[in-house]
Amino acid sequence: MKGIVIKSTGSWYHLRTEDGSIYQARIRGKFRIANIKHTNPIAVGDEVDFEIDKDEIAVITNIHERKNYIIRKSVNLSKKTHIIASNIDVAFLVVTLSNPKTSFGFIDRFLITAEAYHIPVIILFNKIDIYNEDELAELEFYKSIYNSIGYESIDISAETGLNLDLVKNRMKHKVSLVSGHSGVGKSTLLNTLNPDLNLKTHEVSDFNSKGQHTTTFAQMYEWPFGGFIIDTPGIKEFGLVHIDKSELQGYFPEILELKYNCKFDNCIHVNEPKCAVRNAAETGEIAISRYENYLTFLEEDIYIDK
Ligand code: GDP
Ligand code: ZN
Repeated sequence: MKGIVIKSTGSWYHLRTEDGSIYQARIRGKFRIANIKHTNPIAVGDEVDFEIDKDEIAVITNIHERKNYIIRKSVNLSKKTHIIASNIDVAFLVVTLSNPKTSFGFIDRFLITAEAYHIPVIILFNKIDIYNEDELAELEFYKSIYNSIGYESIDISAETGLNLDLVKNRMKHKVSLVSGHSGVGKSTLLNTLNPDLNLKTHEVSDFNSKGQHTTTFAQMYEWPFGGFIIDTPGIKEFGLVHIDKSELQGYFPEILELKYNCKFDNCIHVNEPKCAVRNAAETGEIAISRYENYLTFLEEDIYIDK
């Protein structure tokens, strides 16, 4: 039989089959051995094969290749990473231009990590019910930047329900993830989309009252309109694989498009002569904020734990 992992407690895995039945399954030792890089051999979102053994226990026998997955550093001190979730069809990045204001830096960083993980992103500008005139103008500016490089951006109000039908449409029959800073309205959005879920997407501390690390597990829920949402308590950004300086440009769609016009094949668009990318930033053909963030990220050691 085939199922999707919708919840994991570390020793038991909750599987959902295509017809909607739920099974609690275990794994065999070989999965732990086969998966030395990560602390968890199987994650929420994984597609698995399983069988019912002679003791009537569901046992996972095979895991299908993951389309993508996101990870974070393990809470224990080993060098291993923890897979938060896999097989994500689309990530919704919730940002706000007021109360609180999200920076271009945060958005661009999120987009490059999502590109690195091969996860499409839709940007949701939330709380537009409270934007003043300046903020509305800024909203148009932001949207034009991200639309022009291929990211769909939708204005919403989780509070008033504006454009949530469109969001539902984009989530329908897909496995989605909702990310963004604390306070931007992620929980409000998800609970408005389905009041029964009562998701706890807001940040939760990684430490309990005794100061010990606690693990918060991702969990997958089914939408009544079809599709699934993965709730990742406490995760506002994707964890950081090392992105090589020469690799970084590959995660900027507008740079990828122009780089073939640079004089040098190995141009990284900083101060090389006849650089089509820097030229485009100077003429405004590509957004200066994007180019500046590219330069900032080049200076940093960006790690996308993979
Ligand atoms: P989260 O931390 O991202 O999950 O954010 P919450 O859902 O907890 O929302 C933070 C605050 O923003 C709450 O007080 C919400 O009522 C408020 N909020 C969320 N969405 C909207 C919106 O569309 N408009 C307005 N005005 N407030 C909102
Ligand atoms: Zn160049």
